[in-house]
Amino acid sequence: MKKFLNDADSFVRESLEGLALTQPGLALLEGRTVAVQADRVVTGAAGPGAAGRDCVPVALISGGGAGHEPAHAGFVADGMLTAAVSGGVFASPSVDAVLDGIRAVTGTAGALLIVKSYTGDRLNFGLAAQLAQDEGYAVETVVVGDDIALGDADTHAGARGLAGTVLVHKIAGALAASGADLAEVSGRARSVASRLATMGVALRPGTMPGSGEATFEIDEDRIELGLGIHGESGVEQVGHRPADDLAAELVDRVLAARPLDDGARVALLVNGLGGTPPAELAVLTRAVHRLLGERGLTVERAYQGSVMTSLEMAGASVTVLPLEDGETELLDAPTASLAWPGGGGPVAHHADVAVPDADAGQVDPGEPDERARAAIDAACQAVLDDEHRLTELDQVVGDGDLGEALARGARAWQDDPADGSAASLLRVLSARCRRAIGGTSGPLYAAGLVAAAQALEDGADWPRALAAGVDGIQDLGGASPGDGTMVDALRPAADAAPDGWEAVLAAAEEGVRGTVEGVSRKGRASYVGARGQGHADPGAEAVLTWLRAVREAVRVG
Ligand code: ADP
Ligand code: MG
Repeated sequence: MKKFLNDADSFVRESLEGLALTQPGLALLEGRTVAVQADRVVTGAAGPGAAGRDCVPVALISGGGAGHEPAHAGFVADGMLTAAVSGGVFASPSVDAVLDGIRAVTGTAGALLIVKSYTGDRLNFGLAAQLAQDEGYAVETVVVGDDIALGDADTHAGARGLAGTVLVHKIAGALAASGADLAEVSGRARSVASRLATMGVALRPGTMPGSGEATFEIDEDRIELGLGIHGESGVEQVGHRPADDLAAELVDRVLAARPLDDGARVALLVNGLGGTPPAELAVLTRAVHRLLGERGLTVERAYQGSVMTSLEMAGASVTVLPLEDGETELLDAPTASLAWPGGGGPVAHHADVAVPDADAGQVDPGEPDERARAAIDAACQAVLDDEHRLTELDQVVGDGDLGEALARGARAWQDDPADGSAASLLRVLSARCRRAIGGTSGPLYAAGLVAAAQALEDGADWPRALAAGVDGIQDLGGASPGDGTMVDALRPAADAAPDGWEAVLAAAEEGVRGTVEGVSRKGRASYVGARGQGHADPGAEAVLTWLRAVREAVRVG
């Protein structure tokens, strides 16, 4: 697995240094992997902080192994954490690192340590808390174990701390920022932690920086339910399945573990594990949100983002938090953290907005032209028959979607063909292509067809209309003959049109041949460079396909 990495030993520190350049107000303790809010430091040269030991609010300190970014340093900001102590990748920080963090930011109001439930974290944070108390600091600890995957069996070391921890950061952070005292902040944090329920699913492992070792093993077609954020084994490996089914599985398990009353107001967090793109996460969010609603719950706030990751593991977790009074406001309270996914506040539900009906009724059909209709029908059928070959060609020199794209346009015509004058048919076909094809070909065909229609309306014969259409394509796309695009077939064809169909086809064929050796300079095919050499341009081939079909249709008709 390729990574942006200099040295596995300095990886965590370098990563935090980069973060401190982008998260306003973030500083690192010298030589440590401890991130702090710079203006909350109460010791050393910088202290006693802006406000002095006596005036600072309750400090919130979290942390744990690295590899879960943006947790936890990404949440060190006004309204969330005051400090985050990071260990090595998946390794708990040392007692002394935690103690450094406590001493750096704890004033007389005290500090709350928010610890994910893993043995190493409980021990290191636990001993650091004791030592700090011996030094006279007021320190409380909350251990978060929101994972419900392993059930309540006493065969394991207690439920693990997962993404729900970030909701504890947020709610406790907002409360501390409001001036609440340590008892109130830690009481609320424990209460939230006790109500959280999280269940995750992993699709693909992450890999360790340095060794490159996968964090767990899984077959390509299987997924692991209930996996933790360190790649430790989950509850079971099962076959992969559609996102909606996975969402149902996660929601079922979460609600079975923490049954909620009908009508309960909840916050939802759909967390990505580091290797899942936002678009995929959103598909899961959509399903989970709907399912929670069907279970009679009111999703008061929904958050989506990769906030507690496991290197580049693909997968997600679903966290449900039943809300108590005042907690929605604490979730909504501002924070300066760039990593908190809730910047937008409450999300209203909007029904889909009706699409303005712009195309309808615009084209005056005029006198039906049988030959033009036959020509368009034939061109569309030819493109459909040739779909597979065009796609294969585009796979070599482009991105492999041309056959499919043009077929969408052809089908849009076949599904709802029109009758009318040649010009009106070209206008309808243009509108269909514009909507259905997309990519590069879509707008170019749409422009060409409209330009040809306009020429016909202005009294042009078909050779002049073809030339006008090609002009339209060149005007919009900026390609000239020799650039290795469909223009290489179209321009010579249009130039030969006054000499009749045989000349048109011969010119187009020669143009296509020219694209075989020429280097493509325009369009997507230009990115592949030498890879495209020796192959015809698929767009030019497509032109030949429909030109031949049109010729047959007008000859017969
Ligand atoms: P993409 O996938 O790049 O969006 P398509 O697959 O829809 O594009 O179409 C690719 C074809 O479009 C190319 O084979 C080429 O013939 C044609 N093409 C690309 N750029 C231009 C351009 N600027 N002018 C005319 N035709 C172009
Ligand atoms: Mg393409």
